[in-house]
Amino acid sequence: MKIHEYQAKELLAAAGAAVPRGIVVTSPAAAQQAFDQMGGPVVLKAQVHAGGRGKGRFKDSGKDWGGVKFIRTREEVGPVVEVMLKYPLVTKQTGEQGQRVSKVLVQEAADIAREIYVGMVIDRAIGLPVLMACAEGGVEIEEVAARSPEKILRVPVNPDTGLQPFQARRLAYDLEFTAEQAPKAESLMTALGRVFLEKDCSLAEINPLVVTPKGDVLALDAKMTFDDNALFRHSDIEQLRDEAEENPDELRAARTGLTYISLTGNIGCLVNGAGLAMSTMDIIKYHGGEPANFLDVGGGANKEQVTEAFRILLADPRVKAVLVNIFGGIMKCDIIAGAILAAFKEVGFHAPLVVRLEGTNIEQGPKMLAESGQNITTATGMTDAAKKVVAAAR
Ligand code: GDP
Ligand code: MG
Repeated sequence: MKIHEYQAKELLAAAGAAVPRGIVVTSPAAAQQAFDQMGGPVVLKAQVHAGGRGKGRFKDSGKDWGGVKFIRTREEVGPVVEVMLKYPLVTKQTGEQGQRVSKVLVQEAADIAREIYVGMVIDRAIGLPVLMACAEGGVEIEEVAARSPEKILRVPVNPDTGLQPFQARRLAYDLEFTAEQAPKAESLMTALGRVFLEKDCSLAEINPLVVTPKGDVLALDAKMTFDDNALFRHSDIEQLRDEAEENPDELRAARTGLTYISLTGNIGCLVNGAGLAMSTMDIIKYHGGEPANFLDVGGGANKEQVTEAFRILLADPRVKAVLVNIFGGIMKCDIIAGAILAAFKEVGFHAPLVVRLEGTNIEQGPKMLAESGQNITTATGMTDAAKKVVAAAR
């Protein structure tokens, strides 16, 4: 689960980090009031669950600025916020269609002498959280990481003890903070490390962490993603969820107990079990197709879940063929075939359907599908299924 920048900065501030003053608004008028309260230049920041806002653009707005806009005068505030709330914001992370903005953060503008990156992620290779930092932070961080990966400093963190003071000190030294700035930078890194571990983040980053000409050190922008499997123990974080920012199909699937992730291809996949779903996607790609989604209906797929899964798949106009690949372990193949037939009738298919069943009562399931008189292609084995569905999608 992701949260907005302003929420991430509230969590950091609660853990002791220095962040700029800011007010979240939902209208141009409220933005003007917030500007008055700040009493000086502000930065207007579109709140979306995507990065790269500074370099993004508002689709069809004709404006040459993106989701982060420096503002000096009161007169500029209203028109800028109007554009932000009217047009979708397109960044490297939103996709072509962009993301609607409903909240704008009016933040006290900071003067910037240096921009630094600090972020924490789980490093799967070593099985530990790692604090990463780079002296060249800001909007070019992805390019720096790709061009000169040696510039990214990495410090593994023991999850039992958290980020240790000596580790933060060492990083502050390597990032060339002055003696006066270093303790401030260390307290920001410590806050980041604390929030990451206490709240079960999978990612938490401050980019940029800035040094002002006066020597203040601030978290100017922050991003956080939480481990969904740990949300049950963080009701405070769960409350920060903004459903408007989430993929509507993924939300709908989650409510039915399905695990659904939208992808970019044209073959809809309905599979039980994450491992089988992964290998189904692999074999589709191996035979020249592209999956439209990852969909795991779980071990005990019932009629309601299969029906809802079909609805979600077929609501996607890109889907040109559907592959059902189910192993009848907990559920028997004849029960699954019955659920598929019932769902097939109820949903109304506009794309060819290929079904591969395996497992308990395999003699009955495919026979029921074949004898149903419905336009359903049955397949034997993964390869046969992949070949048939790739051909159907073409
Ligand atoms: P992002 O593009 O979504 O990561 O949004 P950021 O909040 O990181 O802003 C992008 C860039 O805008 C930063 O790297 C800064 O260079 C600039 N920026 C953001 N806030 C301020 C500010 O208060 N003052 C100044 N001078 N620049 C800012
Ligand atoms: Mg940023």
